[in-house]
Amino acid sequence: MLAAGWINPFQAPGRWRRANLHTHTTASDGKVSLQERVDEYALQGYDVLAVTDHHAVTDFAGLIDPDAMLVLPGAELHPANPFGGSTYHLICLGLDRNLDAKRAAHPQEIIDGVNARGGVVFLAHPYWCRHGLSDLGPLQRYAGVEVYNYNCASDGRADSSANWDELINRAGLCSGIANDDCHDPAAAKTDTFGAWTWIRAETLTADSVLAALRGGLNYASCGPEIKSLSVEDHAPRTAGGPGARTHRIRVATSPVRDIYFLSDISGGHATARDGRLLEEAEFVVRQGARYVRVEAVDVDGRKAWLNPVPFTW
Ligand SMILES: [Zn+2]
Ligand SMILES: [Zn+2]
Repeated sequence: MLAAGWINPFQAPGRWRRANLHTHTTASDGKVSLQERVDEYALQGYDVLAVTDHHAVTDFAGLIDPDAMLVLPGAELHPANPFGGSTYHLICLGLDRNLDAKRAAHPQEIIDGVNARGGVVFLAHPYWCRHGLSDLGPLQRYAGVEVYNYNCASDGRADSSANWDELINRAGLCSGIANDDCHDPAAAKTDTFGAWTWIRAETLTADSVLAALRGGLNYASCGPEIKSLSVEDHAPRTAGGPGARTHRIRVATSPVRDIYFLSDISGGHATARDGRLLEEAEFVVRQGARYVRVEAVDVDGRKAWLNPVPFTW
């Protein structure tokens, strides 16, 4: 059975908004001013840009905010790691006032502080941080994981899919987002416009965008587009009559080379054949599966990630 309360983001009210949720400016170690950053993302047609300077909520005073783009306040906060691993990188969105992460007794204190102010927290680039279950498993009440960080590609650690999986399998289901984590000018072409998050929001307001992220109404991409997701009843025919009812997941995408269905107890894969790229695939959910999530990979190896679809049996 589909878990109660799950909302299919492709059937939720509103429309898809393209977002970069991890941005640095000259207020921390970015090389581009806030206004230039905002202007370059607006020019690229983004709907949402979250400003996440290190250890600080950047002052928006004097910012000329383009009408067509929402600029979200936030910060990347770095509480110490009490579990022996490296310092945390927490993407804190919708934060209007800085929290002193350096003085926090525990990272959970920062996560709870951001939530109490109406914000949303994502665990940034866990692969780059060398963070595993011992670092992330004890944390709670975050919205999800930065499954892909374009800036970390230069260190060969952009893709945190395995870290996300470990958390989903061992700690609990959560969302995935993809971001640029931009520091350099767009002209350098190193860490801009390479990864983004699509958010299904009713209106282009901070409240609506943050509520959508809190509810998992998003998907992550550095290339492929996911066009639809449906989950249907499925009753397989067996020699002895109809088999046990289960579910069939279907996705439609932009042309891709591979579509993977990942689950806690089984998996599936569709691949392009005879020179024809895939634009859809389906998968029958195995009885007892706790979740299924989808990855689509294009001919250049660029991925898109759907959030896990939860089941209970
Ligand atoms: Zn970071
Ligand atoms: Zn960063």
